[in-house]
Amino acid sequence: MLQSPYRSWRPSPFLKLSAAAHLGAGAGILLAPHLWPVWAGAVLANHAAAAVLGMLPRSSLLGPNIVRLPPNAVARGEVALTFDDGPDPEVTPQVLDLLEATKQRATFFCIAERVRQHPELAREIVRRGHLIENHTDTHPHLFAAYGPRKMALQIDGAQHALRELTGRAPQFFRAVAGLRNPFLDPLLARRGLRLASWTRRPYDTRTGDPSTVLSRLTKGLAAGDILLMHDGHSARSATGRPVVLDVLPLLLDAMRLQGLRSVTLQAGCTPAADPALKEAQV
Ligand SMILES: [Zn+2]
Repeated sequence: MLQSPYRSWRPSPFLKLSAAAHLGAGAGILLAPHLWPVWAGAVLANHAAAAVLGMLPRSSLLGPNIVRLPPNAVARGEVALTFDDGPDPEVTPQVLDLLEATKQRATFFCIAERVRQHPELAREIVRRGHLIENHTDTHPHLFAAYGPRKMALQIDGAQHALRELTGRAPQFFRAVAGLRNPFLDPLLARRGLRLASWTRRPYDTRTGDPSTVLSRLTKGLAAGDILLMHDGHSARSATGRPVVLDVLPLLLDAMRLQGLRSVTLQAGCTPAADPALKEAQV
């Protein structure tokens, strides 16, 4: 059975601080119960801070979070195109054709429920050299409000379905809209999954104007960037076409002019062989 490597979980500094706040408040209640509003306020403030951090998709304060490719990928001139919420029978095949015509590799954060509906399309994504990663089982909009048991069901349901239907266990996870809570990181660690968000987000599920979406992706575009787009739930442009299909050819042109090449997240995050070791072998 394909199995992701286990990662031992270490609480982030914020979570250590949270634990200390709770213990401190507990001790405070015992030692100075008349100051209960202070202790309750400390716990509430801590919960509010956790909620705010969970709403910042690019934050690493609730646990490790990949927002850019590592330096060796930057040195290689790589970026990572990522497509969420598919597969979609109208959009995904056209995205695949555009990627193939320009020899780019991408990462598809698929919703397992959609993969069950279109298993052949999912296999086609993989057959063309791209990778499918975990974007939950059913994409519940309240994912970030879930407790650990319901979160685990979403992660495991997708992990199981994607492994069965594509033959590969995902290595990366992306939360719904990037929103999460402190329960997520230990669940991902236990399963050897890495949380990946993005460098640039064009809001292409809400913005149908191709030039706005394109400029959000290309303004300051640089090697190492992880770009978020949607082949599922894409907004429509004025012509009625899914906006991603108008934007992607122009984005691929812009990448070519800058000498950038898209790789899968897995390839981009794989460390290159140690150059010192290489020299020693020469
Ligand atoms: Zn999504």
